[in-house]
Amino acid sequence: MRLTRLFLLTTGLLLSLVSALLLRSIWADWRQVDAAELGLAAMQRAYLGMKVAEKASAERGPAIPVLNDTQPADPAKRARLQEFRRITDAAFDEALAALAGSTDPVSLSARAQLAQARQQLDRARAEVDRVAALPHAQRSAPGQRLTRAPIDLMFAVIDTVLAGVTTQSAAAEAVYPELAMPLVGARYAAELREYAGRLGSQFTTPLATGLPLGREEQREIPLLTGRIEQLRQLITLQARAGRAEPPLQAALAKMEAQYFGVGLPFIAGLTERGLAGRGYGMDSATFVALYVPPMKSIVALRDTMFSAARDAATARVADARSRMAINAGLGLAVLCIELTVFLLIRRRVLSPLLRITRAMNAVMAGHDVPTQTLAPVVRNDEIGDMKRAVVALQAATARSRALEAEREQLISQLRQASDTDFLTGLLNRRAFTEQATGLLAQARRHGWPVALIVFDLDHFKRINDEHGHPAGDAVLRAVADLARGQVRRGELLARHGGEEFIVLAVDCRADEALQLAERLRLTLAGAPIPLPDGRTLQVTASFGLAWVQPRRIADLDTMYRDADTGLYRAKSAGRNCVRSSSGDGVMPGVN
Ligand code: GH3
Ligand code: MG
Ligand code: MG
Repeated sequence: MRLTRLFLLTTGLLLSLVSALLLRSIWADWRQVDAAELGLAAMQRAYLGMKVAEKASAERGPAIPVLNDTQPADPAKRARLQEFRRITDAAFDEALAALAGSTDPVSLSARAQLAQARQQLDRARAEVDRVAALPHAQRSAPGQRLTRAPIDLMFAVIDTVLAGVTTQSAAAEAVYPELAMPLVGARYAAELREYAGRLGSQFTTPLATGLPLGREEQREIPLLTGRIEQLRQLITLQARAGRAEPPLQAALAKMEAQYFGVGLPFIAGLTERGLAGRGYGMDSATFVALYVPPMKSIVALRDTMFSAARDAATARVADARSRMAINAGLGLAVLCIELTVFLLIRRRVLSPLLRITRAMNAVMAGHDVPTQTLAPVVRNDEIGDMKRAVVALQAATARSRALEAEREQLISQLRQASDTDFLTGLLNRRAFTEQATGLLAQARRHGWPVALIVFDLDHFKRINDEHGHPAGDAVLRAVADLARGQVRRGELLARHGGEEFIVLAVDCRADEALQLAERLRLTLAGAPIPLPDGRTLQVTASFGLAWVQPRRIADLDTMYRDADTGLYRAKSAGRNCVRSSSGDGVMPGVN
């Protein structure tokens, strides 16, 4: 597998794994945040429930004077009741509003319990109003317990609300087991407040009527006192079991001092008087003024415990959130770093490597490397070194190529010089012999007829003698040019030596050979040749011709001998003519 691909695959795999881990961790953190928030919400709903219980409980206070009111009815008492009812309603509304929109099972059950409590409250209030509307005599007749029934209905409201509080509190405790102490403690304190209130309610009617405690009060007071004592023990146990913080200890001490030190002994004294029938020595208002303030210490304890729980839970939610943010941030940072490393390696190592490899291949193949592929080499690392090495290699290769080209050129120049006659530019005898041998071999293979023409300038010595050697050279050059104009491609023309020239033509019929020789002869004879001194000269040449029939073996030496014989015969015949070696009719038209 190629490195680039392997790198891509491993990086992709690594990125996916890290992303999966990151998502998993964020999901787990999110679940914790969500649970913590739900727990906190349940806690707050429990608290709102406690407030509802507290307010509904407080509503009993002004309800009792209305129930026991004499005639004509006191509007102030009713106005006070209405005010308390409004406060209870507001507490209900607040609790219900906190639940609006929540669809989790705990919220739904809380809403159902609150709705049920509200219905019970409506019935209790209707009963209060119904009984209060009865004639006073009927309500207050001894043995008549008409005024008690609505109050009992109101107790039922609190029971329902507190059951809801327990459900919510239990939901919160499930999320925050370590906060069970303040939560359960707050719930017990709420119940304690309720029972303390109920205990006080036992005295409302006796105080209003001035009568001794009735049978029911006599039964209820010890039961309620017992329950209160029990709750006191439970709260104390809770506080001892958990780590009670100083504010909580202070609140507990305050409750002990105020309710259990003042409120409860006050009730005990009143109970004693009520049982003895000695009169109570106070009216309802004094009773309320004396008994209600100590009860506030219970509510204060409840709130302290709840605050402790809520603060701890809020901190936990914040912790969970920040943990999630830190984990997500760290995870994202890891992802980013990984991605950056990937891009860096790709950009700074793999891509340059690929380019350098291509450049090296191009250098080796002798192609030009685009300048931007390697330059500018500004990097000071291994890749930079590599680039510099390739640049150096490229320069060295270019140099050696240039040298090679130069050498080739020299060789070809040398070859040409060694093949060429320096004066005429025609092939020299050596090159002619070499090339003619090749051509003759080809002719033998194909069974072609071959013609060899040798021609020698007539009385050339005279030209030299009369016009000087340079003029002779000029004539030789001019003759070479004229002859070059008459031979075709594939025919070899050379200066054979001195003022003798030679032409080899393969695949050439006898008549064509003769035509060629004649054409050469006439061309030379018909062209006035300019001399360096400005004059012109007429030259002629004598031609010897040798011809080998098709499918006969043509040998250069033999043919040359024959042609030379022909040349000799031409000179002998008076020059400026064409002759074969023997004049035996092998060459038609040639003597
Ligand atoms: P023929 O018609 O019998 O051929 O008479 P000729 O004078 O041409 O023959 P000969 O062989 O007597 O003379 C050839 C002369 O060609 C002799 C030589 O000086 C001259 N010659 C040979 N090579 C060159 C050359 O390169 N330049 C010049 N200017 N003359 C040359
Ligand atoms: Mg001659
Ligand atoms: Mg000669």
